[in-house]
Order: sequence, then structure tokens, then C-alpha cells
Amino acid sequence: MLNETHDPHLRSWVASANLDGTDFPIQNLPHGVFRRRGETQFRGGIAIGDQILDMSAASATDVFSGLAAQIAKLAGAATLNDLMAAGPAPWSALRLALSRSLREGSDAREKLLPCLVTQADAEFALPAVIGDFTDFFTSWHHMINAGKVLAPPGAPPLPNFKWLPMAYHGRSSSIEISGAPLHRPVGQTRIPGETEITFGPSRWLDHEVELGLFVGPGNARGIPITVDEAEDHLFGLCLLNDWSARDIQAWESMPLGPFLAKNFLTTISPWIVTMEALAPYRAPLQRSADDPSAFSYLNPSHGTDRLALDITLEAWLEPVGGAAQKFSRSNYQDAYWAPSQLIAHHTRNGCNLRAGDLLGTGTQSGNRDGEKGSMLETSEGGKRPLPLPNGDTRSFLEDGDTLTVRGHCERPGFARIGFGECKGSILPAISI
Ligand code: CA
Repeated sequence: MLNETHDPHLRSWVASANLDGTDFPIQNLPHGVFRRRGETQFRGGIAIGDQILDMSAASATDVFSGLAAQIAKLAGAATLNDLMAAGPAPWSALRLALSRSLREGSDAREKLLPCLVTQADAEFALPAVIGDFTDFFTSWHHMINAGKVLAPPGAPPLPNFKWLPMAYHGRSSSIEISGAPLHRPVGQTRIPGETEITFGPSRWLDHEVELGLFVGPGNARGIPITVDEAEDHLFGLCLLNDWSARDIQAWESMPLGPFLAKNFLTTISPWIVTMEALAPYRAPLQRSADDPSAFSYLNPSHGTDRLALDITLEAWLEPVGGAAQKFSRSNYQDAYWAPSQLIAHHTRNGCNLRAGDLLGTGTQSGNRDGEKGSMLETSEGGKRPLPLPNGDTRSFLEDGDTLTVRGHCERPGFARIGFGECKGSILPAISI
């Protein structure tokens, strides 16, 4: 699992990749799709420090050879679906070639230097054509916290939560890249606990701190992906904010689940951190003795000691004219279901996944204050508004607010790697 690309002592000839706290040291090498501002053509790139290695330009040099050269071309395309479909051995060959050519002292420096684009001069596009989007519900604490507001008083935890990874099929047309504008959605609303049904702009507009999982090679319909094989079908992870209008959700969701409460926009970060880059940050899947034992199709033969991922997730809220404040900090290793179990469950009935499909992890929350990945949970449905440094308070998002999701991994003996950011600002409702 670990190899020379994870060596924490590696340094890059791209100086900004060696700075403390950078999200993109040479041990990360995430994929994205970008263009320089003012250009028309998007292409694939790799984040390194505060730069992007233009993979379209880099693959036209003679720096890469063999399998890595073939795959470098796919990594430079305007959509990364073909790269995602290629599978772990080609991905790994490219990562090794990139790591060696971006290292301090590499002969490739002279040829790759002209292929660098400053991230601050770039704009980003969705990294793949996303055919389907499925959003899971994997955080026990999110279920409990949200249930206190949305479920009838005294309702027990959902009985199926610990038996199967729950999900709803989302909408791919309204997934956009970080920075996409968001007008407050309008719809039929009911505030939980109230009886009045109204029509108008949502008053309970919320965010959800999630990770997005990009599917690699797909499966033929009728042929499930086993839990042991599942990570070979997982390209990598990005940040995801599943914007949610809670007052629309509370009124419309029974019995078929969320519809207009969530399909107006889902925002993802530009960079996809590969599963190989995440290898040092594996964590045990957390279970208690009284949890039901998983059916075998959800239970990997190699055990669950390294099934989860230790990824710190943060949400930051910045009001108009105010300073950004950390709103929550949670960790993906607290999720009840791991990525490979989501894929095994999704396909167990014969459902086919395709390269570039996106799976959301669901909101990631802990059980303590400060660990709640949505405002619904933090404010307990408006009962405990969060004080802001400017003296204001927030129960839900207000017009002008900017919400940013960030994520990173750190572990003693390894480099810190990050995910960049997933950002959105709230614009007033459009009146029609
Ligand atoms: Ca969600």
C-alpha cells in the first residue's frame, strides 16, 4: 500500500509545495480540470503547491514513458472519465512518474517548468461528466442530531441504519464546481414543529459537510462489485457540500425522500485526492459490541482495521463584512460505513456504476459541540443560534454568507495533505 511516493522527506522543485501547511505537497498530487482565466479550453492538471501542472502540456513532452505516458494523456483531457476508467495500476504508474519528475533534482524540471500554471490565475470545471449522483447517509451522529429536529419527538434511531448504507439518488445536472452562484431556493415550506404551509424563499437554508467519491472502472449491470474489490473501483475523493433547504425538506420528504430541498445545487471542490495518496491515513472502522454484525457482502475478508479514512473536515462561515469563523470540525473516520461498503452495497442488486459517477458520503458529524456538519444540527433547528465575531448570530445561512468546506489528512511520520476548498456564497432568491 505504501511506497516511495508517500515518503514524507520528498521535496519538490516547485518551492511552494514544500511550505508547511500547503494542501498540495508532492505526496498528494490530486487531479482536476482547469484553464487559465480568459482561455476557452479546459484540460486536466495536477495540483502541486500553489501551481498546477498542465497535464495536456506535460504529456506532450517526452518526460513520461510507457504506461505513464499513455495515462498522462488521459490526465490532460478536458474530462477525466477515461482516466477514472483506467484502473489502479495505470493510476499508480502515473503517480510514480509524477512524483519522480516533480522531485528536487529531477532532470524533468526544465521540460515541466513551462507546463506550470499558477492556481490563482486558473478557473476550474467539473473533473468528469457525472452520469449519476448517489448521496449516502453514513454518519450515525448526523442521523441522531438531525432526527432531534426533523423526526417526530421521541422517535427512535432508524432501525435500518446499522444494517445497510442508506442513500437517495440525487441529481447530477445541478452539481457544480466550487464558487458556483447559489440563489436562495424558493418552494413550499414547513418549519418542523409548525403546522403552517407557506410558499416562498427558504428560511432554513443549510449546508452539509461531505466528501464526494468518484467512481473508477464501472461494473456491468447484473455483476456486483465485491467489498474486497471495491476500492479498485474508486478513483478518489473530493469535498462536497450538499446544500439543503430544511423547511422544504421537512414538508416534501415523506415518503420518498428529499427532492427540491436538495436538487437546486451540490457543490464540489476542484481537486480529487486519489485513494493511493490517502493510503497513509487509513483508520479502523468503528463498531461497538452491540452493533449488528454486517452481512458478508459488506464485510471485507481482510478485516476492517484499515477500512475507514482519517480525514478532518471543516466548515467556515463568513458573513458579509465579517471575518470567517470555523463553524464545525468533524472527521470522516467516525462514519459508520466505509467507502468500499458503499460501493458493494450500491451494486449488490446488480445496479451498474460507471466511471465518473459520484457518491456522496452524507453529512459527517461527531457527537460533541463543534463537530456538527450542518447548521440544522449546530443550531438545533434554530434553538441555539451560533454567535459570530461581529456580534451577529446564525441559525441558518443568510443572504451574503459564504460557506467554505475544507479537508486535510495528517498523521505522525507522514506529510500533511489537503483537499483545497469547496466554497459558495448565498445570493437572494430570484423573484419570478
Ligand atoms: Ca447529503
